Amino acid sequence: MPELPEVETTVRGLAAVLQDRQLTRVETRREDLRRAFPVDLRQRLTGARVSGLGRRAKYGLIHTDRGDTMVFHLGMSGRWRIDPRQAEAHDHLVLETDDGRTLALNDPRRFGSVDLVPTAEMEAWPAFAALGPEPFDLTAGNLAEQLKGRSAAIKLLLLDQRIVAGLGNIYVCEALFRAGISPLRAGGRVSKTRLERLVPAICAVLDEAIAAGGSSLRDYARPDGELGYFSKAFAVYDRAGAACACGGTVKRIVQGGRSTWYCPKCQR
Ligand code: ZN
Repeated sequence: MPELPEVETTVRGLAAVLQDRQLTRVETRREDLRRAFPVDLRQRLTGARVSGLGRRAKYGLIHTDRGDTMVFHLGMSGRWRIDPRQAEAHDHLVLETDDGRTLALNDPRRFGSVDLVPTAEMEAWPAFAALGPEPFDLTAGNLAEQLKGRSAAIKLLLLDQRIVAGLGNIYVCEALFRAGISPLRAGGRVSKTRLERLVPAICAVLDEAIAAGGSSLRDYARPDGELGYFSKAFAVYDRAGAACACGGTVKRIVQGGRSTWYCPKCQR
């Protein structure tokens, strides 16, 4: 499943092709993904010029000079294909630019979404209105405020999009490991000193994953270049039974119905 670094890498890859280009063709090949494509998507985007790209949580943003922003989510299996050699099953949305480039949004499982939101009203858009700060905007001070008095496990609180936007299971597990914090510890009982370790740890694991994605950016030039996925090395995620550098062993537990991996010896 694409997490924040994949979305960020995708946006950077799309920016290389779309920035300042005019969209000359916008074609949907079915009516819906997770929900219906906006009925006026083609009308509002055809002829528009892309004025910028961005990301909010795990959503990609394509801004146009018409005051609209196309907001996409990759769901479980979505990816953009740049200049695909041939059409593939599950290419549900196709964009063409005035310099002859083609972009296809491919999503076999269709948990993704595409919406058009007036750029000026984006922060009030329902999916965005309740979101907490981006991980890169987080400070130990504002995190401490959010966690104050909370008895829920820190792992679950960090997955709560109202506290931090866009953090998924992989990076929460990895950041807690780096900061030496047990995923089971009550959020309100993580000391300020440890939060001061946690915030940079969150940024570092995300930055490293984005950099790993960036290093595969050259692949985007391939005719069948696909954006979104790249291999990463994890310290604890999906590594139950692996030896930790501290001499402990990585353990898998279930919290809130999802797996957590951590080292009980060095994460307290
Ligand atoms: Zn350890």
